[in-house]
Amino acid sequence: MSEVVPHEFMDLHTGEKSYTALHAAMVDLVMSVRTIRQTSLLLYLKKALVTLYIDQEQDPSTIESLRSLVQSDDPLPDVDLSILSTILTSINTRLEPLDMEIAESKDMDDSSVNIFSFVNKKPTGAIRLSTKYSQNDVQLVKQVIERIFASEYVNSASATDEEGTVHPRITFSVPCMKMIKYLRDGPRQLDDDDAPVINRFTLEEADLFLKDLECYGWLERNLNNYTLAPRGLVELKKYLIDTYGKCPEGTVSVCYGCGDILTRGIACSNASCHVHFHRYCCELVQKSRDDNSCPNDGCSETFESFYSF
Ligand SMILES: [Zn+2]
Ligand SMILES: [Zn+2]
Repeated sequence: MSEVVPHEFMDLHTGEKSYTALHAAMVDLVMSVRTIRQTSLLLYLKKALVTLYIDQEQDPSTIESLRSLVQSDDPLPDVDLSILSTILTSINTRLEPLDMEIAESKDMDDSSVNIFSFVNKKPTGAIRLSTKYSQNDVQLVKQVIERIFASEYVNSASATDEEGTVHPRITFSVPCMKMIKYLRDGPRQLDDDDAPVINRFTLEEADLFLKDLECYGWLERNLNNYTLAPRGLVELKKYLIDTYGKCPEGTVSVCYGCGDILTRGIACSNASCHVHFHRYCCELVQKSRDDNSCPNDGCSETFESFYSF
């Protein structure tokens, strides 16, 4: 095995039972590019291994030489296809319960080229977006989702009461113009040669793209705000929860009444309570209760204090 990266480190990350940051990075890569050639994936694996090792190395001169190694054509010659295969087996064991896998196939035009694809084995799912949208579009859809669900945006709202106290509020609604400009200003290009090139939009193109998503039921427009529409919520549920996590650890809001995820509803004004409802689910729960208190036992708020998001 390679001299530069010690045995123990390699074994830790490439063992049959291993599942480490390396595996997670590989999943991220294949998910975002959807298909990648075997040669590119193997090279990425080598670079990722060295990069992970750099993270735990202390000596500046070693770090420097490792950094130049990452840039070389073959950073770790000993890392071969059998290691790649072991890692992919480990990844697919993890993806299996999610009905996803990184599947190997041949290039349709050149059978000597092995390619790996991220496959959603369910008939619906985030990746199925690509049946209508190009790879580039799927990246843009993910950017739109990011603008809706990233915690910096979800937790960006607040309300000030008569006493001047500021109360944090959640929101999944993005003013249309902000969303258009967000796309116009250019989503972050993935730092990889195999990632599709994301073309910058003009304002008009960004507007059209969003209207198209609205037309097909992915987004809805409400009071000049964009948010994810019911179709988007259903088809992207797994993606959203996997990517952003459920509230309160993550940002995906779950209805206290029915357990489904939502982007518009009402929430308890106690910021540490995290009780969210569909409007109709809240009415049902309210009717079924004798008092007007928040259904969360540890919370002293009443339904009157709930706010719309
Ligand atoms: Zn509900
Ligand atoms: Zn509450």
